Amino acid sequence: MLRNSRWRIAIPFVLLIAVVTGGLAYYFSRSTCLAAEGCAVRAVLVAGVLVAIGVVVLSWVVTERSVRSIREVTEVARRITEGDMRARVLPRRSDDVGELILAFNRMVESLREEMDSLIEDHQQFGTVLDHMVDGVLITDSMSYVDLVNPAACRLLHISETEAMGRSFASVVRHHQLIDLWQRCQEQGHEQLEAVEIGQDLFLQAVVTPFQQKGAPGYLVILQDLTQVRRLQTMRRDFISNLSHELRSPLASLRAVIETLVDGAMEDPPAATRFLGRAEREVDTMTQMVDELTELSQIESGQIRLRLAPTPVCDLVNTPLERLRPQAERSDLTIQVKIPDDLPDVIVDRERIQQVVTNLLHNAIKFTPPGGRIKITASLTDMEDGPGHGVLVEVSDTGVGIPKADLPRIFERFYKLDRARTRGRGGTGLGLAIARHIVQAHNSQLWATSKEGKGSTFYFTLPVATIE
Ligand code: ADP
Repeated sequence: MLRNSRWRIAIPFVLLIAVVTGGLAYYFSRSTCLAAEGCAVRAVLVAGVLVAIGVVVLSWVVTERSVRSIREVTEVARRITEGDMRARVLPRRSDDVGELILAFNRMVESLREEMDSLIEDHQQFGTVLDHMVDGVLITDSMSYVDLVNPAACRLLHISETEAMGRSFASVVRHHQLIDLWQRCQEQGHEQLEAVEIGQDLFLQAVVTPFQQKGAPGYLVILQDLTQVRRLQTMRRDFISNLSHELRSPLASLRAVIETLVDGAMEDPPAATRFLGRAEREVDTMTQMVDELTELSQIESGQIRLRLAPTPVCDLVNTPLERLRPQAERSDLTIQVKIPDDLPDVIVDRERIQQVVTNLLHNAIKFTPPGGRIKITASLTDMEDGPGHGVLVEVSDTGVGIPKADLPRIFERFYKLDRARTRGRGGTGLGLAIARHIVQAHNSQLWATSKEGKGSTFYFTLPVATIE
């Protein structure tokens, strides 16, 4: 019963009335009072004054207690509004007001839990956005950017501060993307389009409408498909190059067989000549298939390198001796400069000899008679590599490579203008194989060239020990 506030307020007044009534009864019952005139009037007056004072005092006490609790709740509510979710009212009472305070505290606690989980969700959302590979932008109905993630900033070459609050058009600066956003706004449903930005960025853009804060918003997702497209192009080129490369020896073989069938077999010297040609064509195809198999094995990491400390001159001399007769036939001079104190490199000897062979063979093939070829080696710092390394350079004074072709010569089957390379043989796989071998050694192979002046191919190799 005492948990009910009405009783808590009423009881002091009831007690006050009981005490005053008891006092009056006692006063009246005294013999002196019964005999005295005016005693009753005085007693009632005194009792009235006492009751009035008691009522005032009790009212003040009761009101103060209630008001103090309300003040505490108001203060805590103010602190919570300011963000202090740990503020609580101390439940000092066990009546209705005490229960109200407990309910208030429980409500604040559940609000805090919900806010914590919202903050956690928000942080998770932020982390996902920050680490997403796809670019994400959110705009309002007027096209002003409300949100942009780091991937979108990277793709659009803009910083977050520059993008936020600006119009979509001024952020993306690309007519196709702007058209896509406008189409989505007009038609009210998702729009998707492949967009090419400049020469080296291929995006798939999706714009989706949604409701945010009661107004339409637009979610823009930019997927970078440059690499995928590059791989697709490479695959397409690879297949067309492969069929092209196989077509010539196959056509030649067919011609040889037809000639033999048509009667050349009856002429033994001619038959021998044709069979020799057929053998060369088969050799070409076999070499191509062997090189392709090797390339795919290196690419897929199936080949295990037999690494061992090796002197750099060992890597150069064997290929040099093998190819020297060919260079002499073409009237080319080959100069080798390898310092004696160069440290050994840790490599698979045969594979790196193959790299040198491919580079030297190309230098011989693409340098006109009378030209010079130079092979040098020196100690260098390998950036992003295992510290010190040996830099090997194979340079020639040959036909050179046009600037536009230079980045592509390491692709499989890539051959420059076939008219220039006609008669020089080659499958277009040599440099692709060389680069993969060097990369398998955690090193790099690259080239510089000037058309008509010559080319230099560089590769680095990890040093075994530094003396
Ligand atoms: P290939 O077997 O045709 O030589 P590569 O992969 O070794 O194939 O070389 C690819 C292309 O790069 C060659 O066809 C040639 O056009 C060009 N190339 C490579 N080395 C040189 C060089 N030293 N000088 C000029 N062009 C070169």
